[in-house]
Amino acid sequence: MEERVAPRGLYIHIPFCKSRCIYCGFFSQTNFSIAAAYVDALIYEMQRYDLSQVRTIYLGGGTPSTLGVLLLTKLFDYLRNNIDMCAVEEFTVECNPDDVSDELAALMCRYGVNRVSMGAQSMNDQMLRFLSRRHTAAQVSQAIAHLEACGIYNINIDFIFGMPAFDWYKFETDFEQFAAIHTQHKSIYALSYEEGTPLSRMLADGKITALPDDEVRTQYEYITARMQQLGYEHYEISNYAQPQHRAIHNCNYWNRTSYVGIGVGSSSFWGSHRHTNNMSLADYCSLPPMHRNPTYENDELAQQDIYNEIVMLGLRTSDGVNINDIKRLGNKYYEHFLQHASSLQNCGDRYYLAETDWFISDYIVSGLFL
Ligand code: SF4
Repeated sequence: MEERVAPRGLYIHIPFCKSRCIYCGFFSQTNFSIAAAYVDALIYEMQRYDLSQVRTIYLGGGTPSTLGVLLLTKLFDYLRNNIDMCAVEEFTVECNPDDVSDELAALMCRYGVNRVSMGAQSMNDQMLRFLSRRHTAAQVSQAIAHLEACGIYNINIDFIFGMPAFDWYKFETDFEQFAAIHTQHKSIYALSYEEGTPLSRMLADGKITALPDDEVRTQYEYITARMQQLGYEHYEISNYAQPQHRAIHNCNYWNRTSYVGIGVGSSSFWGSHRHTNNMSLADYCSLPPMHRNPTYENDELAQQDIYNEIVMLGLRTSDGVNINDIKRLGNKYYEHFLQHASSLQNCGDRYYLAETDWFISDYIVSGLFL
C-alpha cells in the first residue's frame, strides 16, 4: 500500500470510446478487447492506496459508460467494498448520452453514483454528425429523463462554442436549445484545434474556416450573460452551477486538495508531490498477472512551481487566490504577486480576475508567474 497518500479525491480513467470525435485530442481507443484486463489492472492499482479519506470519486475518460454493465459492476463492487460510501460527497460518472439506458442509470444509482456528466456538445444534429458524435440532440433529453427516473438529479452537460462557420449552423439557436435543458451544472468550452486531430487537418486543408477570435469572444460573452440570467453561478472559466451544485471533485483540483489518479495517464497530487502514470495501455493491462507496480513520472514541486500553480489554478475560479497561501511561500513570492496584481480585483484576502477578463485569463495569469 502506498503509505504517503490518503487522498480526498479518487479519479479513475477509462480510456475507451466507441468511436472517435474529430476534435478530440485525448488518448482513447475504440478496441475494447482489453477492457476486462484494464478493469482488473485498475483494481490492482487501487490496492496500493489508502482510500479511507476519499470524499469524491470521478470516473472519467474516454467514455466510462461504454464499459457496459458487467465491467462497471466489477469496478463499482470494488469501490463499495473499499471506500466508506456514506462519507463520499460526490460520485460522478462521465457518460455518453446514447449509452444511458434505464439499466445503466439504475446500476449507477444502486452503487451510489450521485452525479453524471454528459458531453452534449451541441443540440444541432447536423453539427453533432460533423463532430462525429454518436448521439443525437434528442438522446440528451432522453438520457436526462432516464437518470432522473432513477433519482440522479445532479447532472452536468457540456457544450462547445466557437464552431467553424457553416451556413446551416446558427450559434444562438443551438445555445438557446442547450440552455433550455434544465440541469444543475453546465460546462461550456471553446472549440480548440488540437494537433493531430481530423478537425485540425480539415483546417489546414482549407476545408473549414476557424471562427475569428473576436466572434468567439462575443459568443463567450453571450453565454456568460445568458447563464447568469438563468440563475447559474459562473464559478470557473468554463463552468456554471446552480446554487450548491459546484462540481466538488473538480473544485478540489483548483484548490489543490490531494487526489489520486488511477489508470493510464492519470495524475496524482498531494502536498508538493505530483506523479503521472506513464505506462502504455498494453503494459498497464499486464500489471496484475505480472504483479508489477505502475511506473510513474515523478515531480517534486519546488516553491516556485507551487506559487505558479496557486496562481494558475486559483485565478481560473471566481474564488480566486487567497493571499495567505502565497504569503506562506515566503516574501519573495508575496511581493512579486502584489507587484503584478494590478490587473486583479481584490476583496479582503482574495484576489481574483474580473469576469470580463476570463476570456483573456491566460495572458493576464502568465504576467503573474515567477
Ligand atoms: S467521446 Fe469524449 S473522449 Fe471519446 S473521442 Fe469523443 S470527445 Fe474524445
